[in-house]
Amino acid sequence: MTIGLWVVKMAFYPESFIEEVKSSNDVVDVISGYVNLKRHGTTYFGNCPFHKEKTASFAVTPDKQIFHCFGCGVGGNVISFIMKAENLSFKEAVDFLADRAKLAIPVVNNDDEGLNDIKIKEYHKSQMYNINKEAGKFFFLNINKSVIAQNYIKQRHLNIDTVKRFGIGFALDDNSLWKHLKSKGFKEDDMLATGLVGKNEKGYLFDKFRNRLMFPIFDVRGRVVAFGGRALGTHEELKEKHIPKYVNSPENLIYTKGRHLYGLNIAKQQTQEKLKRILVVEGYMDVVSPHSFGVTNVVASLGTALTENQGKLLRQYTEEVVLSYDNDQAGQNAILRGIDVLQSLGIMCKVLQMEGAKDPDEYVLKYGKDKFNNLINNSITAVEYKIKILKQRYNLEDTADKIRFLNKMAEILSKVPNNIERDIYIEKLSKELGVGKEALVAEIEKFLFKDDKKEKSFSIKATEELKPTISKETSELEETILYLLASKRKEVYDEVKKFVLVQDFQDVTNKSLATALYDAYEDGSIFNIDLTSLCKNEEQVNLVTKLMLKPNTSDDYSKITDEVLSSFKIQKMQRRKLELFSLMKQTNDEQTLNKYQSELRELIQNMARK
Ligand SMILES: [Zn+2]
Repeated sequence: MTIGLWVVKMAFYPESFIEEVKSSNDVVDVISGYVNLKRHGTTYFGNCPFHKEKTASFAVTPDKQIFHCFGCGVGGNVISFIMKAENLSFKEAVDFLADRAKLAIPVVNNDDEGLNDIKIKEYHKSQMYNINKEAGKFFFLNINKSVIAQNYIKQRHLNIDTVKRFGIGFALDDNSLWKHLKSKGFKEDDMLATGLVGKNEKGYLFDKFRNRLMFPIFDVRGRVVAFGGRALGTHEELKEKHIPKYVNSPENLIYTKGRHLYGLNIAKQQTQEKLKRILVVEGYMDVVSPHSFGVTNVVASLGTALTENQGKLLRQYTEEVVLSYDNDQAGQNAILRGIDVLQSLGIMCKVLQMEGAKDPDEYVLKYGKDKFNNLINNSITAVEYKIKILKQRYNLEDTADKIRFLNKMAEILSKVPNNIERDIYIEKLSKELGVGKEALVAEIEKFLFKDDKKEKSFSIKATEELKPTISKETSELEETILYLLASKRKEVYDEVKKFVLVQDFQDVTNKSLATALYDAYEDGSIFNIDLTSLCKNEEQVNLVTKLMLKPNTSDDYSKITDEVLSSFKIQKMQRRKLELFSLMKQTNDEQTLNKYQSELRELIQNMARK
């Protein structure tokens, strides 16, 4: 969440309403709808819906009304949970929960100009959703009026249920849509904004989609955000008449390319068991055809490569993604990019291998459901796919090419997060290529060293040393100080602030949270707020929820405070000692050197006394 959103949140609804929404939606109750939770003491645990895991490290507490995942570190309150789980903005999540609790959403009366802008924007957005919904119905009913549309549907073996479920329709070659929309009372500006209607130089409106099969694109909540229109006719006919095969709605207030997945609103309705794996394909018909054959865990990325937003969306619903794009150069590149996106999000990823058809649409029509399911089951791993592509691109008989191949290979293997899996590939490749295992490992380590973004899960020690970061002891100590401050005890704060300055915090997130907490103690607001509302970004929320869920080791706060502060003082002195050593090395000036030396002596004496 960005700071900008935070500001909008504050401005949009009165804080009292947000509190009402929170208190009417119990966090355990809401999350139970998404995660199978089991109670242990005062806390509920389940498998985290935001990262793939087998151990239940996702904790929810009814008393504090927060959740926190000790696996991936994500945390928050009931609103942030819904934002993530349903991929909604703050306002949308509040609306969603208000709706769930049957609360009336307040009409915001405020003359502030910024607020009005937001209100106006929200109003136009809702009008655009309404227009798209109405247009979708209109297109659907048009199928009865068009013989070519009916023929196409018949030829593709689409049953009426499938057509209905996806809301497939037809745009006639006339201006009937905008006339219909006008008769429903929609405003010209809103119609134009959806991109369904255009305006010529003379100021006349016209329908932009003509003679096309229409596929509404839904968001996960089932609202129509855009349309894709497929021209009917053979490839040659279209080429001759310079008609593009596909035309899509433009990006606008309610539609951003790469944020939605075609068919996900339908796929997500299945049981969790079936959704363990989702097939991602290129086009509308690659989703619709398998569905009509009963293969329903298929979605399309609409555009060639999978975006990070789409990857995050998938992560909410599935553990494994199988990619299936065309087998040309563009398709291969899209798969390679997709693999990177999915792996960076921690999603298991495989690639469909298809022969005898150019896409899933054609394949399922030709060979049927069972063979198609077999194909999905026999998908190859991302690494196997990359090796396969690389082998095609390099001539392994040629020594120079072989070295380049090995180098590329090492880069790929350096990104395999699982050591056992990586070892298997190293073993296999070294045999296959007649290269020593040690040589391959050495190559891989070069990439691991380069990549400072690697997660700690990489067990190769070198990556840890690469991070010029704060030691584990320091960050644990800082977290304990924040934990003490989060207890909302004035006497603890008074003691802590005597010795610990905000600037003393080494970790950026710790420092920013400390700043917020110190401020809240100073103005007294700490005692009547929910700590998550202090936070200015997602990192802070994740940290606060972690602190709030930290088990109490003791109730003796003054004792813990004393212990922590004495460790803090020692650490601070040690840091200064190292700093002095390095300063002394750098200076040539006798006087400065003496000054440093005397400070060092004093410091060492102090440390000895502790
Ligand atoms: Zn998690």
